Amino acid sequence: MPIDATLPYDDANIFAKILRGEIPSTKVYEDEWAFAFEDINPQAEIHTLVIPKGRYVSWDDFSAKASDAEIGGFVRAVGTVARAKGLVELGYRLLANIGAHGGQEVSHLHVHIFGGQPLGRMISA
Ligand code: AMP
Repeated sequence: MPIDATLPYDDANIFAKILRGEIPSTKVYEDEWAFAFEDINPQAEIHTLVIPKGRYVSWDDFSAKASDAEIGGFVRAVGTVARAKGLVELGYRLLANIGAHGGQEVSHLHVHIFGGQPLGRMISA
């Protein structure tokens, strides 16, 4: 069920629980700004999620309110994870779903990294 990305941040969301270590995840990378882990229901050979450590609902919330340091740290972390996964040479896809039309289901900003196979065109019918 897609979320309303205009609502305030909800500390009970599942990625907040992962960040707090309350539920397990398969960690891929962590630094001051970001945490990356494997998607529990992978949609490609490689499907990794990268989340900022700050309390941001969506890309809209993050881009409007995060500090330059948070934004820079998060963007660099996404690139670091993709490089560490060996995805640069053959390429990969980043995706951030936002709100109802975007199909966002978890109310903590996350960027999907897909790779390890040809990914087709941008949007499936
Ligand atoms: P989105 O539709 O962009 O909000 O995507 C949410 C993603 O989170 C989906 O790809 C889910 O498979 C993934 N997901 C949900 N719960 C977990 C979890 N506990 N650990 C890892 N990935 C999860």
